[in-house]
Amino acid sequence: MSEILYGKPVTENIRADIRKRAERLRKNRIAPKLAILRSGARRDDVAYENRVFKICDSIGISHITCQVDRDVTQRQLELELSQLNSDRSVHGILVFRPLPDHIDDELICSIMSVDKDIDCMNPNNLKNLFTGQKAGFAPCTPEAVIALLDHYGYNLDGANVVIVNRSLVVGKPLSMLFLRRNATVTVCHSHTRNLADITRNADILVTGIGKPGFFGPEYVSENTTVIDVGINFDENGKMTGDVDFDKVIKKAAAVSPVPGGVGGITSTILLRHLVESAERYI
Ligand code: NAP
Repeated sequence: MSEILYGKPVTENIRADIRKRAERLRKNRIAPKLAILRSGARRDDVAYENRVFKICDSIGISHITCQVDRDVTQRQLELELSQLNSDRSVHGILVFRPLPDHIDDELICSIMSVDKDIDCMNPNNLKNLFTGQKAGFAPCTPEAVIALLDHYGYNLDGANVVIVNRSLVVGKPLSMLFLRRNATVTVCHSHTRNLADITRNADILVTGIGKPGFFGPEYVSENTTVIDVGINFDENGKMTGDVDFDKVIKKAAAVSPVPGGVGGITSTILLRHLVESAERYI
């Protein structure tokens, strides 16, 4: 039987660390504060926000929501973000995306304060990641994948990593984080030929295609560790990953479950970034 890579012990460790750091900040008269900028009240956004705020409350991080209507004008949204940028009590900002269709996403990303950009939406922070500069925070989901593997003691140096996703929030930044750790990285996508032949050779396979149960046992070997980043919902609202968990767990070396794997770590990484951002003021 393969190992199941649960996210819970990872989040517990990180939260214990950031709780201490938040306390140290408060002793230095700095109250770490998260701001969320949300357009409208999409169910997923509100649910995520509530989960993050619950963790904030348990750690001692204060928070505010700046909510605008979905029909907000470009100018108004820019103004709201600029105000959060210049609000000295706010140390990190999360903007829920996708933004409404009529909003210029690129422009909003470029307005985000580089220092308060805790989920790497400003192109300057992305550039830092791709050019190997230490400044700025990496996107939270890729960092959560690395945190999971680190927690379970994986040596990434020289590891053969295959990522099936090339988006700017998952695959591309994650490939940079793996390269920083001297892994050998292959990035696959919907045009990749003979996908299973490539993934079967992976020491570590990261899946993030948004197709429930797509990856069966034919995509892995006995030596493959599978990190499932996919989040899908079936017709009953049940969350599933991209991996056919019940079958793959019988063959692969290790698998991270959905729910219970990478997803929960992501929001904790966001708050670690927030605390790090506030620590600059000590
Ligand atoms: P996305 O932008 O739609 O990217 C999906 C990627 O999968 C693309 O690179 C696409 O290839 C590739 N793909 C789709 N079908 C494929 C196939 N049959 N074979 C090989 N590659 C295929 O989505 P995303 O925003 O990156 O999110 C991906 C998944 O991760 C979603 O399920 C999302 O919910 C989840 N997610 C999870 C977290 C978390 O915290 N756990 C965070 C963000 C996203 P092309 O580039 O060729 O189209």
